[in-house]
Amino acid sequence: MSAEKSLAIVLRTIEFSETSVVTTLFTEKFGKISALAKGARRPKGPFESALDLLAVIRIVFLHKSSDALDLLTEAKLERRFRGATRDLSRLYAGYYVAELLTELTDEGDPHADLFSAADAALLRLESDAPVAPTVLDFELTALRLLGHLPSLHDCVGCGNSVEAVGRVAFGLVVGGVLCANCRPGQRQVVSISAPALVAMRKLTEENEHAELMELEPKVRGELRGVLSGYLAHLLGHKPKMHDYLKTLV
Ligand SMILES: [Zn+2]
Repeated sequence: MSAEKSLAIVLRTIEFSETSVVTTLFTEKFGKISALAKGARRPKGPFESALDLLAVIRIVFLHKSSDALDLLTEAKLERRFRGATRDLSRLYAGYYVAELLTELTDEGDPHADLFSAADAALLRLESDAPVAPTVLDFELTALRLLGHLPSLHDCVGCGNSVEAVGRVAFGLVVGGVLCANCRPGQRQVVSISAPALVAMRKLTEENEHAELMELEPKVRGELRGVLSGYLAHLLGHKPKMHDYLKTLV
């Protein structure tokens, strides 16, 4: 057992006993961890309400090697998430960032790049940046960094390249575009417009955040639909925040 330090984003906090909580954190250095915070529910406890949902905190914890919970020994607040003070959509979008980090990552699998992307997304949600593009950008970035991007250029059936003309078949289960030969017999296929496919291809390249702002609402709506369907299949269930995201476009 060794003491480790990291920055972390608070994803969830559950009451554990009268005085303690178990908190799920996405740390910069160690990926997702679950840690017991003894005394966190006491007024003037050792964590001074640093364990707020979506807060960015600086932690010290004892890393247990077995299946036991890690033990949080220090948590200092770096930044509280203030999106909710602006409007509710920013709070819900923040919840969705936390939900994706919880669902898409495994415990103890470090992704410093994903930590930075999440940190940046939360900061944008606290600013004047538009919410829907920020969410789309974070989803695509998370999928790219975790190696879960759908196939957008080559047919997932035969590997031939698929041109972005007219409407293109996208298999939610197989995870990508399908050519005319491979489409028959596939389950859960949606059709997406060429502009939506082109936009998605562009957005999945690195450093293309600016493009998001210029998307037409119609194209953005299509991307919202395809991504929600794709993520629901990837995770095996519909994310809790998806119904709310429909109202964002
Ligand atoms: Zn094919």
